[in-house]
Amino acid sequence: MALLITDECINCDVCEPECPNQAISMGEAIYEIDPARCTECVGHFDEPQCVQVCPVDCIPLDPANVESKETLWAKYRRLQGEATAKALKAAAALARSLP
Ligand code: SF4
Ligand code: SF4
Repeated sequence: MALLITDECINCDVCEPECPNQAISMGEAIYEIDPARCTECVGHFDEPQCVQVCPVDCIPLDPANVESKETLWAKYRRLQGEATAKALKAAAALARSLP
């Protein structure tokens, strides 16, 4: 299940850099979590890091995005695959630019 930032968010900027999946970003008024990138930190940490650092406790589970542990692991593997492909592409581009 992805997590959700409620309108109690005070935009303190603390959670965004803690997310290992780059799932948190500034929205129109408050920070938001991209459910396609949130794994509840499965694959990286035992506990959701954003929840650990939020000073106002405004990051509950998102009932609209219920997911099993297996689904979260699959999402983690997909994100890791995308990150690896991106890194390989960047390395190949760098190699091509070398004299
Ligand atoms: S639970 Fe983890 S993956 Fe999900 S938004 Fe929070 S820090 Fe990011
Ligand atoms: S840590 Fe909590 S209050 Fe701070 S920006 Fe993130 S969600 Fe908002």
